[in-house]
Amino acid sequence: MAKRLARALRACCFFPLIPAVQAADLPDYQRNSAWFTDGDSRVETRAVESRRDKTAKNVILFVGDGMGISTLTAARILEGQLRGEDGEENTLSFEEFPYSALIKTYNTNQQTPDSAGTMTAMMTGVKTRAGVINIDSAALRADCAGSKGHELNTFLELMESRGKSTGIVSTARITHATPAATYARSPERNWEYSADGDCKDIAAQLVEMEFGDGIDVILGGGRRNFITTDAGGKREDGRDLTSEWRQRYDGEQQAQYLQSGADLSALDLTATDKLLGLFTSSHMSYDADRVATGADEPSIAEMTSAAIDVLQKNDDGYFLMVESGRIDHSHHAGNAYNALHDAIAFSDAVAAALDRVNLDETLILVTADHSHVMTIAGYPTRGNPILGKMVTNGADGAPLADAGAAADGLPYTTLSYANGLGYADLDDETDADARYDTAADTGRKDLSAVDTQAPGFHQEALVPLGSESHAGEDISLHAIGAGARLVQGTLEQSAVFHLMVGATGLPVTAE
Ligand SMILES: [Zn+2]
Repeated sequence: MAKRLARALRACCFFPLIPAVQAADLPDYQRNSAWFTDGDSRVETRAVESRRDKTAKNVILFVGDGMGISTLTAARILEGQLRGEDGEENTLSFEEFPYSALIKTYNTNQQTPDSAGTMTAMMTGVKTRAGVINIDSAALRADCAGSKGHELNTFLELMESRGKSTGIVSTARITHATPAATYARSPERNWEYSADGDCKDIAAQLVEMEFGDGIDVILGGGRRNFITTDAGGKREDGRDLTSEWRQRYDGEQQAQYLQSGADLSALDLTATDKLLGLFTSSHMSYDADRVATGADEPSIAEMTSAAIDVLQKNDDGYFLMVESGRIDHSHHAGNAYNALHDAIAFSDAVAAALDRVNLDETLILVTADHSHVMTIAGYPTRGNPILGKMVTNGADGAPLADAGAAADGLPYTTLSYANGLGYADLDDETDADARYDTAADTGRKDLSAVDTQAPGFHQEALVPLGSESHAGEDISLHAIGAGARLVQGTLEQSAVFHLMVGATGLPVTAE
């Protein structure tokens, strides 16, 4: 009898037997809350995005060098605060993307990675050692002979050799580790203008690129590695690679070599097939420095826009890599101000790309290569300046007595570093690297009279190091457009290559 009743209950319906307690309707004030409507529209956007075509004709890979999660959070708050908002509710352009994943960044020989090994993973699908560019982990760093037979080919080279157009943009030297890993093979990342043994330096590899007809758009810093010592450069082999690059296309394509932001603004991009812009001798300026000094350099958004304008003339599609190289450098110097301002400029570059592409045929990926040891600490009140000192407010909104002081009675900043050069007050100096002129000064300082929001303030650090270090936690990958829905979960960094291959359907062997 009991068994038969149980069977009957299973076959029929439990619900009518359970008395209704209370209908779970959501009250108006809940459904009309800004948090509620905002979440609703974001999920709706995601539903639209999930119906997009899987196959991408074009891929744009944005890499914020050293742009860890804490940098993203702090940069989004600063961007909102620069507009007069509290800041926490703001989102950077790519934080609106519907798909994201966490990325494990370690190198084959290091728990905390460097940019050469991490970009090799993204561009080739194979992780390798720190300091090594597109050479697999069987070879040792800086061993030219040992690197032979271990060279890896890149996603950019695959795209170029399949008839697509290709471009690279960086605010660092265009021969620096991240951009170099799109086109070069070198057992030593520092062989930018000369190399050991019969290995070829990175700048020479760029202008001699054997795949397709070479990289179509090259915009960034590092002119010194392409010109001779006599001309103010670094090359001792007498070669002027900028003129070699122009001669390569002479009479066949419209190739333009530029050295200033004004040159780029004046250029007719519709009549340009090949574009080489080397705007500074070494790295380009920090964005805040570029603005403050009126330097004749394009912004990263301007370089991104120009690159897309040239590349999208190819009906077969293109691959573009855009690196914000100096977020990393400012963190190394222990200066959050420039790291965050460069991250905001990077977000503007992504927005500029969004304005120009058709997402039904274009995949945009935004990621970092590794993190840094900057943290966001304490219990600052909502809207507290992200570059400021920690202030906690009571229930009435007024600052609590001594709420911004640590146990030693001194104030502290929301942002600080676990290691590095530590404290320096360079006031309105926007060049974060100026810090390297003084000795490391770590430990607690009395910041009572210091303007910690000034461009030249360098945050306190705990462990003294000659240069603040990378951090080993995961970084994020953000995706929108064709094939973006592949971007989910926690992935090895080498999977970024496979995501791009998967989204484009690019054959990885000759047809
Ligand atoms: Zn670095």
